[in-house]
Amino acid sequence: MTKNNATVVLADQPRDDTIGEYRVLGRPLGKGGMATVYKVEDAEGNVFAIKELFPELGRQKEFIRRFRREFELAAGLNHPGLVRHYRLFEDNLTWNLVLEYVEGLDCKALLRKLGPLAPDEAVALTCEVLDALAYLHRQKLVHRDIKPSNVLLTPEGRVKLSDFGVARPTAGGDLTRADAVIGTPVYMAPELFGGHAGPPSPSADIYACGVFLHELLTRRNPFGVGSKDDLVTTIAKITTTAPRRVASANEELNDILKKALAAEPAERFSNAGEMREALETLLPPSSIPRRLLALLYARVGKEKPTKKKTVPKEPLGLRPADLVGLGFLFAVVGLVLSAFFIKVP
Ligand code: AMP
Repeated sequence: MTKNNATVVLADQPRDDTIGEYRVLGRPLGKGGMATVYKVEDAEGNVFAIKELFPELGRQKEFIRRFRREFELAAGLNHPGLVRHYRLFEDNLTWNLVLEYVEGLDCKALLRKLGPLAPDEAVALTCEVLDALAYLHRQKLVHRDIKPSNVLLTPEGRVKLSDFGVARPTAGGDLTRADAVIGTPVYMAPELFGGHAGPPSPSADIYACGVFLHELLTRRNPFGVGSKDDLVTTIAKITTTAPRRVASANEELNDILKKALAAEPAERFSNAGEMREALETLLPPSSIPRRLLALLYARVGKEKPTKKKTVPKEPLGLRPADLVGLGFLFAVVGLVLSAFFIKVP
């Protein structure tokens, strides 16, 4: 398959071709709002992920600018909790970011497979996200799109934040109109909907971490936003409702969630480190988050989605349980009839 006809192939189909000098390995790893992510290898067999901007967006200056910006912001970062960004290149009219390949799965897939997590697992995951955020905030950057699909978990229990597509500097911001309402509404702090003019603040990442933690614990949105809600309803719920209590969490954890999700930025944790410290006190004393997360990852392999048990049917369409029931019924009827005939002379 040549590169030209590859662009008309549906995005989730396996590809058997190259992107620049990289060979594509199998199906896409995932798809975000702007790009498809592939596993690739170079001529030396080194494995990377390539994020390929959707071809239709690759012709629009604004999206190319955002993609370039994502690379420029992320390329200088070096933290084990952040996906490394190596290079940006154009190939045959498509724009591509070469990333560190993360073997594992994102937290959205993790939740789909395992359902709500136990409090210590959810807390350990969030602690690791907060570590990466603390580093990012020290670099005067905000991520602005913390959500389960952007948090990758490796088999070793390492957490890596991906997708810096909407990350921005905290000061000297150059917000354009197109940038002004960006992020994923259910994870956006209420102040971001009110025409918030100042530079993006780390406090919005803390709030998103609160939504993230609540979702890990319940698979639900803290403000009752459902997948069918439109943007207006979503904003109304987020800005006017108090966060729901999490039944599986103790008082301390519910208080931490409440603080992270405060409508007023000043009432939230003042930085990622502070929220991490508060959460850490809830972890079992001997637990190291990474070990806990490696165990959590291992559960993905063990717990298969519950399939309906298919009991083999008997030739007459009756299951063994049906036969036992029928046998019992015949016995009772037999007893009643014999008692009747014995009494009648
Ligand atoms: P994104 O466009 O960054 O939101 O990525 C979409 C999906 O692709 C994610 O939810 C992950 O499942 C997957 N993905 C993104 N980056 C990587 C990576 N560096 N390594 C492996 N999978 C990735």
